[in-house]
Amino acid sequence: MLEIIVAATFIGTYSGQLRGTGASKSSNTAISKKFLSYASLPSMTPLSTHSKHFLSDKVEHFTESVIRDMTRQAMQYGAVNLAQGFPDFSAPAEIKRAAQEAIASDVNQYAITWGSKNLRNAIARQMKEWQGIEVDPEREIVVCCGSTEAMVATLLAVCNKGDEVVVFEPFYENYGPDAILSGAKPRFVSLRPPQSSSDNQGGEWTFDEQELREAFQHKTTQYQTKAIILNTPNNPTGKVFTLKELELIRDLCVEYNVLAITDEIYEHILYEGSKHISIASLDGMRDRTITINGLSKSYSVTGWRVGWAVAPPAITNAIRKVHDFLTVGAPAPLQEAGAAALSLPASYYTELAERYRTRRDHLIPALEKAGFRCYRPRGAYYVMTDISNFGFANDVEFASFLVKEIGIACVPGSSFYKHPKDGSQQVRFAFCKKPETLDEAARRLEKLQSRA
Ligand code: GLN
Repeated sequence: MLEIIVAATFIGTYSGQLRGTGASKSSNTAISKKFLSYASLPSMTPLSTHSKHFLSDKVEHFTESVIRDMTRQAMQYGAVNLAQGFPDFSAPAEIKRAAQEAIASDVNQYAITWGSKNLRNAIARQMKEWQGIEVDPEREIVVCCGSTEAMVATLLAVCNKGDEVVVFEPFYENYGPDAILSGAKPRFVSLRPPQSSSDNQGGEWTFDEQELREAFQHKTTQYQTKAIILNTPNNPTGKVFTLKELELIRDLCVEYNVLAITDEIYEHILYEGSKHISIASLDGMRDRTITINGLSKSYSVTGWRVGWAVAPPAITNAIRKVHDFLTVGAPAPLQEAGAAALSLPASYYTELAERYRTRRDHLIPALEKAGFRCYRPRGAYYVMTDISNFGFANDVEFASFLVKEIGIACVPGSSFYKHPKDGSQQVRFAFCKKPETLDEAARRLEKLQSRA
């Protein structure tokens, strides 16, 4: 019981209000120093640690990650995990060696909070080489614990209460909670699935120009648009935004004085000649773009947690401050290995994309044979599918059936939409897996065919 009182006292100290006591900030500090026993606080209403009193209102507006929950379910039911997007194959030997060498040579203390010089130099070099963007590694880069931290640190650094952030939907599930945590309100713009999906060409996910314009225009006394989050190549749809689409987004950002925050983590995973374009490379965007990327997907090291944000100096400064107090820094030896990773030759990326194309073309026919309608991705390593052939009431019931009865974990489509019904006949599969894993999935999918 004493523990509970002490916890309550500390929370009171930070929030400046302890419900039920009317105690001031300074008197709470005094209480915390004295560690009073429960008996000496007769006027305090006993609080259970389950009480909402102890919780931030923000956490009521989102749930735990559905993607990561599906991984736990895959483990529980012994299912093939095609839910969470992490490779089940080895990372390149040369970068693992670089990590081992960094540890052995005692790169084991904090790096500079905003990132080791070697890694920042390598990021700047790559941005120049791949996208023609000049970056000052001393003033324009923050290395974070994964692009996940880079995204939330960026939003915390740029958003105020009353800001709206435009997000294309379906969206990677982190963006909603990230916006809420930063005090902003997400405003969704639909990406519409291609009409034809079964032919080899597939079709494009598209958006309505007018709907996007309205999202930028939307302004009330309460809300104004601060930024657009752009994820290309896109998770979960596999869409790769074209130059024409990016130019339209650029024009809106400039017209309405809005920032672009881009998640480009799948930049090297592209199919059939799709080309990745960083919006920061377009005229007028360099000063209003925060470009986020990381090691996870390009080098198959999702557990290393090394990502970064590239932004103009004033915004970089703000992100650095948030990042410093959130995490201090990303793992130092893995940042050195990251510098080695970013120095791999161009052939590495060609082979990476080709291997993912093979995996995509391994999984899609098996899914189609089982009765899924597949939206063929142009980039990234997921395939969104339509499940209406199976006659399930919704995606969550279907995913639960699939993991328990068929032995395959996928991600329910609703977790990529604000309104669950919009994704209720979709599920996402990740194909960043070994051929054996995809073979096993194909075998298990045969059990499903009869139900389609
Ligand atoms: N980006 C991956 C996915 O969408 C993994 C997400 C995560 O768990 N950080 O599945």
